[in-house]
Amino acid sequence: MPDALPPAEAAALVLPASAQVVEFISDLHLSPELPRTVAMFERYLRTTRADAIFILGDLFEVWVGDDAMQQPFEAACVQALQACGQGRQLHVMRGNRDFLLGPVFFAATGVTELPDPQPLHAFGHTVLLSHGDALCVDDVEYMRFRSQVRSAAWQQDFLAKPLAERLALAAQMRRASREHQWRRDPVTYADVDPTLASQWLQAAGAHTLVHGHTHRPGSEAFAGRAERHVLSDWDLDHAQPVRAEVLRWTAAGFTRHALTD
Ligand code: MN
Repeated sequence: MPDALPPAEAAALVLPASAQVVEFISDLHLSPELPRTVAMFERYLRTTRADAIFILGDLFEVWVGDDAMQQPFEAACVQALQACGQGRQLHVMRGNRDFLLGPVFFAATGVTELPDPQPLHAFGHTVLLSHGDALCVDDVEYMRFRSQVRSAAWQQDFLAKPLAERLALAAQMRRASREHQWRRDPVTYADVDPTLASQWLQAAGAHTLVHGHTHRPGSEAFAGRAERHVLSDWDLDHAQPVRAEVLRWTAAGFTRHALTD
């Protein structure tokens, strides 16, 4: 399947030396049903001292097309992103939930669209950024679904439907996904494939992978001589204890920071 190959080398993004603090977040799964999570995200955008922020996929629980911005929830999120992007770099990568984020969203927010994967160069190092779902090749059923919904034909067909119908279809897909095995048994949910990840890292000239998607946060040695930083998902509404974490990168290295009320 074409998505499993090392993607055609996106040029490395080189941060200016003035960027002293870089932050990574992902998997916030924002929706109107998660008001505390949304509030923490808005607070984070207002208060962070990062010079550059990278949101590595699944910022939204679902994105059915840029016309969703007609709705108050999406409109408010767009406004918060737009305000945060004033005076700093703000980058967004698509995840498996919000893969339909499109040009109107990027224009309205002013945030930079990141390809997946994206090499990033700062502090004398190159790291590779990815949402991570394309590396979870053991989840055969998901990979089949992924190549279907990432095809131009499927997306054209889907986006041609009225907004109300797309929202209803998305709700239906979310119910089906909750019944999918990984929701019931996260332990067996496919993880990033180390062999494929190694190939991606090699192609990018990087030894460090930063990804989300698996909801198994941690920093560890990985795939031989490489290392990875897995981002936390955010849930301040239902999870006990609550989860909201930022991965920070400075000249001193990577550190993880829990956001709390
Ligand atoms: Mn994901």
